[in-house]
Amino acid sequence: MILEKVHELKHLGDMVGLSVNAGRILARWGLHEKLWAVSHSASELHIHDYLGGLVQVQKLSMPRFGAFAYNGHRALLHEILFEHAKSLGIEIRMGCHAVEYWEDEANGKAGVKIQTGETFDADVIVAADGVKSLAREFVIGYRDNPKPSGYAIYRAWFEAEEHGITTDPLTDFLTIRGDQLHAWIGKDVHIIVSSSRGGKTICWLLTHKDNAAVDGDWWSPGKMEDVLDIVKDWDPRCAAVISKAPSCIDWKLLVHDPLPTWVSKSGRVVLIGDAAHPFLPSSVQGASQAIEDGLTLAITLNLAGKDDVPLGTRTWESIRYQRVRDAQLMGETTRDKWHGVNAGDSGKSFELPMPEWLMAFDAEAHAYAAYDGIAQSIVEDGYHQPSLSGEELTEQVKETP
Ligand SMILES: Cc1cc2nc3c(=O)[nH]c(=O)nc-3n(C[C@H](O)[C@H](O)[C@H](O)COP(=O)(O)OP(=O)(O)OC[C@H]3O[C@@H](n4cnc5c(N)ncnc54)[C@H](O)[C@@H]3O)c2cc1C
Repeated sequence: MILEKVHELKHLGDMVGLSVNAGRILARWGLHEKLWAVSHSASELHIHDYLGGLVQVQKLSMPRFGAFAYNGHRALLHEILFEHAKSLGIEIRMGCHAVEYWEDEANGKAGVKIQTGETFDADVIVAADGVKSLAREFVIGYRDNPKPSGYAIYRAWFEAEEHGITTDPLTDFLTIRGDQLHAWIGKDVHIIVSSSRGGKTICWLLTHKDNAAVDGDWWSPGKMEDVLDIVKDWDPRCAAVISKAPSCIDWKLLVHDPLPTWVSKSGRVVLIGDAAHPFLPSSVQGASQAIEDGLTLAITLNLAGKDDVPLGTRTWESIRYQRVRDAQLMGETTRDKWHGVNAGDSGKSFELPMPEWLMAFDAEAHAYAAYDGIAQSIVEDGYHQPSLSGEELTEQVKETP
């Protein structure tokens, strides 16, 4: 059963990326046609310096490493996954806000209480409650507030024709040859502009320095004049695209120190996805790693069996931990590489990294291959954290096809 706090799915957010490592799994679930139909299909990323000089063209043609990436509006992709879960007969209860977690080691149960006072118990509770997770404190035993990353993103998503993109010679390049993907990079700022659905919708994302402490919601309406001020001396195409958006949001990028664990003391409450490891968007891996988490957890729980849930959850954590950390660090490296660019920079690669260890990875095959060795070491260590070091785990992950 899934408990979700919102009462209905809303058209929230904008571009979200499911990279090929997640796409491989989703295609196996029979979702390729549906996901690809709402995905952005540009085959090249054009990278410009802030004055408009073309620095590099990165080929993005699909399939890559035998799978597709699905980048599109979060609400459209999300709805497909939501309907898929329902079609499998999974009960989804909307309007259920988890307010408390518990676990009972002696009776081998864990549970959750929702806002109405109703309680649910189960063999395992999987807390996928996002970057502002309530379950996190229960699992790690202390409050771990997110910290500003030093950056924020202004972001917008809108219809191209309705907002004048198709009639302005500075912006019509986004619509006349189908889906397009462009990046402008400069000191401490980068902008990504994409058109989707055959050039019909536009999304722009402007990442910039922002040290504001975040209190309450991590996004709020952005001021268009502030965004335009950042690009006033940039390639005029940037201001032309940005100014067409009817509005934008100001999304503070938060970071957490890596958590010491994602699994509760008795091994029956686990944090997955952003609750365990929020990602910077420049890694393009937040949603993909959440999907790898879910798939891997299902396999390790199945292999450990109903009678040994803690073995399933601890083995899952060991399989996932270092890989997720490596993917998180890649997001920081990409952002720093892009923010160090000078006008006319060339001969240096600014490509979005698509390393084989990340993209060619088959999380399903890896979970089956890694399970026995790691589960055995956890049993030998008395169900404590695994004896393998982070480096050893990374090597093991990289060696698995
Ligand atoms: C409204 C929204 C818009 C987003 N827009 C974008 C975007 O435009 N681009 C992008 O790259 N990423 C976006 N993200 C983040 C992106 O969805 C995640 O990084 C990624 O999908 C990882 O997913 P997750 O399931 O771990 O977390 P999330 O997608 O954040 O999902 C967490 C879910 O848990 C629910 N929840 C939270 N607390 C409770 C509780 N106490 N009880 C019950 N349910 C609870 C939330 O309502 C939400 O549905 C957005 C997230 C949200 C919530």
